[in-house]
Amino acid sequence: MQPIIEEISYFACGSCTNHLHWMFKGAPKETRTFPAGVFLIKHRTQGYILYDTGYSTALYQNRWKYRLYRQINPIQVTTDQLIDHQLRQRGIQPEDIRWLIVSHLHPDHIGRLNYFPNATFIMTKSAFQQLKQASLKVLIFKEFLPTDFEERTIAIEPNQQRSAFPYQPVADLFADNSLLLSAFDGHALGQGCVFLPEKNLFLAADICWGMDLLAKTNDLKPIPRLIQDNMHAYRQSCAVLQQIQADGIAVVVSHDSEECIKEVLA
Ligand SMILES: [Zn+2]
Repeated sequence: MQPIIEEISYFACGSCTNHLHWMFKGAPKETRTFPAGVFLIKHRTQGYILYDTGYSTALYQNRWKYRLYRQINPIQVTTDQLIDHQLRQRGIQPEDIRWLIVSHLHPDHIGRLNYFPNATFIMTKSAFQQLKQASLKVLIFKEFLPTDFEERTIAIEPNQQRSAFPYQPVADLFADNSLLLSAFDGHALGQGCVFLPEKNLFLAADICWGMDLLAKTNDLKPIPRLIQDNMHAYRQSCAVLQQIQADGIAVVVSHDSEECIKEVLA
């Protein structure tokens, strides 16, 4: 039988740097670059589906909240790294993206949402509802969203049980078992994560910041804890992620290293 998912590719769209020893108790003195990962999925009948959009150079603008963001989380992004630019380099026009799954609304995931004029956005209902909460704690820069974002978004509540993914309820996005969307709380409310049964691959957004850091969940220091939406849910989601990996599913999180993600996808 022909596969439904014909291809999945990864793009690093900017990055941030943080000191591991500032993030985790007992971590080595190491400064790590965390790329903002974007995935392009080619579906046999639905065409191109994008998972997140990475950083935007607009974050370099001289606005107080961007300055604060960059201070806490120094970023590096060039125009060459923007997802729409990288797609064009591959011969794919941003207009060709029909579906855009937005895992959650943090700046490193929504940077270029404005550049996909024909895309319908897909989010989990709870992640979408965060839009209504305007506090700085939820870290949503609404100016990155297209003005018609709400009208173009399908907010889905994952509520189906699937034996292929028994960990959380899912939504079978195209009713063909190719992309199962689930909601994971903790880092942000209802982060949309995707299981691709054909590839035995789970795209885990920011459940944690690196698969090699999963075991350090309990060592997270107070400031990085504060950045999480809900620390209790964060620990629970990390425990589920550990189980998913232990069961032999390939897992990547959005900020894993390029080498690590490319190895998993290969
Ligand atoms: Zn995030």
